[in-house]
Amino acid sequence: LMNLTRKLIEIRSILVSIDQSDNLNLPSIVVIGSQSSGKSSVLEAIVGHEFLPKGNNMVTRRPIELTLVHTPHSSEEYGEFPSLPSFGKVQDFAAIQKILTDQNLSVPASQCVSDKPIDLRIYSPHVPDLTLIDLPGYVQLSGMDQPDDLRESISSLCDKYIAPPNVILAVCAADVDLANSPALRASRRVDALGMRTVGVVTKLDMVTPDEGTAILTNRKYPLQLGYVGVVCKAPKRGIIDVLAADSNGNMSGAIMQREENYFHNHSQSFSKPGVLVGTNTLRKKLMEVLERSMSDNLQDVSTAVQNELTDASYQFKVEYNDRRMSPESYVAQVVDGLKVGLRDGQLSFSKPQVREKLEGMLSDRVMYILEQLYWNDKRLAELNKLSQGEVDQYWTQKADAARSLLTKSGIGRDSSTLVADGLRGLVEVLTTDSPYSYHSEAAQRIREFSYEILRSRLSATSDQVENALKPFKFEVETEDKEWNMGRRHAISALDKEHEACNAKLSEIRQRVGGYRKLKSIISYIEQVEDGSMTQKSGKEGEPAWKLAYNPAHLVEARQAMLLGERLAILKLRKSTLQSSQCKYGKGVETRCPEAFLTVVSEKLAYTSSLFLQIELLQTFFDQFPREIDSRLMYDLDRQAISNFARENPSVRAHLDLQEKKDKLEDVMRRLETLMHAKEAQAPSSRRK
Ligand code: GDP
Repeated sequence: LMNLTRKLIEIRSILVSIDQSDNLNLPSIVVIGSQSSGKSSVLEAIVGHEFLPKGNNMVTRRPIELTLVHTPHSSEEYGEFPSLPSFGKVQDFAAIQKILTDQNLSVPASQCVSDKPIDLRIYSPHVPDLTLIDLPGYVQLSGMDQPDDLRESISSLCDKYIAPPNVILAVCAADVDLANSPALRASRRVDALGMRTVGVVTKLDMVTPDEGTAILTNRKYPLQLGYVGVVCKAPKRGIIDVLAADSNGNMSGAIMQREENYFHNHSQSFSKPGVLVGTNTLRKKLMEVLERSMSDNLQDVSTAVQNELTDASYQFKVEYNDRRMSPESYVAQVVDGLKVGLRDGQLSFSKPQVREKLEGMLSDRVMYILEQLYWNDKRLAELNKLSQGEVDQYWTQKADAARSLLTKSGIGRDSSTLVADGLRGLVEVLTTDSPYSYHSEAAQRIREFSYEILRSRLSATSDQVENALKPFKFEVETEDKEWNMGRRHAISALDKEHEACNAKLSEIRQRVGGYRKLKSIISYIEQVEDGSMTQKSGKEGEPAWKLAYNPAHLVEARQAMLLGERLAILKLRKSTLQSSQCKYGKGVETRCPEAFLTVVSEKLAYTSSLFLQIELLQTFFDQFPREIDSRLMYDLDRQAISNFARENPSVRAHLDLQEKKDKLEDVMRRLETLMHAKEAQAPSSRRK
């Protein structure tokens, strides 16, 4: 009338998806039966298709929650797996069978059964509105040699399902004495009076019609809801099945026809009052029983739902102050956070900052060149043998060589790499901290985008910078102001170097054992080297110096001697730089290479930073946020967004509670509508 069962089944589906304790559930029909009792055949006859996993190695390892949805206005027949949305509508029942088999086999054989049900919905104009649960055959295993813990786990799984308020469909084969029917035995354990058990007697064709009716009307094992006899399948699949089955293996026609013929041919026996036979009768019976049992439970369920809803609402208020959240808003927030982080990070890549970094890099190079070309020059001692003109030429060539070394040291490549590494570091930091710590996959993808941009820009940038520096390779003009600044910077660079050498020296002193000790080792080395002391000979075969000092200390002392020389040079050079010799003027570049190279390196840094800004940094900070939007955000569908948000545990908890509350509210509204409708239909019956 008002499609009660259908509506109750919808409510049941929502309740199942809330995945709460069992008291929050509307009843379903639980199908039990021993192996080969014809359990699958009955279920398939009800559905009208062969779709259950077959095989003798206990194929049902997980409960199958089967929801049948009657669709009178559509000829389409298909199955859906709500928890496996990727399969979509499955129209081929052989494919459904395959999926069910795979899902069953996904339970490792060692575990054997899992209580995680497989949810299957079948939509068809030929099915009634019903919910049925097919269980792993615990009944079929009783008596077999199975390990105790396995039997234990199967049995507790089944006990959970055959508990009230579920209806039990006990499948018994006509050719097995009812007294021995494992299904009836199991049902009696939990439903001693037979109030919520329907008996199905299969294979009626295997006994004589009189024996059949005797079973169906037996008084020995009375069931309040009665027995229904069926003939579901011939022992062998005959030619008739094949002919009558449609292209989709729809065998209902053939089966029903045979069943009808059978009962028609023996109508004398089967038309007695109280004898119920036929799959159609069974369907009607099940619909009736389910509807009654569901609507009897309406009040209880709605009380339970109301309680649960009150709890959930309270919790939502307390924990989240009723603040609603959507996965979409969370994702947007996470992405915005990243963009803000990028904008902040961009500040540390401003032109002056990049320039400073490059100057640091180049200053190391300048030091190296000075050391190689000037400070370690072994020919200085010979210069006094040359004429003044030759000496001047010597210094001019040196200055040229130094400038050339500096400008040709691959600055384009190195400065681009330096900045790219900095950007990579920024992205790394931004995608490692919370909330990205929860989203490692997305973080990885974001990093990949950034690397891609950097890779694609790196060589072009490097070329551009190198191009821009080309003129400096041939000549560098300096101006008064630049020179003075370069000179100042060079002096402070020398100071820094001086400090560093000093620090190293004092470390060595400490390791060797003090100033005096170091001095004595050094003087020992000097004496040995200038030949004024012959090495004392030690024991036979041992080098003499072994006797004098610890070899490690000798190495340290040599290091200290070099540092001493370096300090002397630095001091000398600093005083030259400070002297009038290095005032801006003609030929000053050759006289004061430290200042000159500093001026050059500052020009190089300035020019490089300009081009890095345009070629690399601007492109990066422009393109990267857009890549995140277009390749991360718009790639995600609803499901993916929800999965992403749920990677964050606190967000998941929030969403879960919110969703549960929403579903409970929805269920509550539906239940209230149904109960009002019921009261309106039967104003005088019930409650009074
Ligand atoms: P299950 O193991 O309980 O699921 O039983 P099946 O449905 O697979 O049936 C076991 C065997 O009994 C199969 O060979 C079926 O063809 C056969 N069978 C099922 N129902 C009937 C029936 O009504 N009559 C006859 N003769 N055989 C049947």
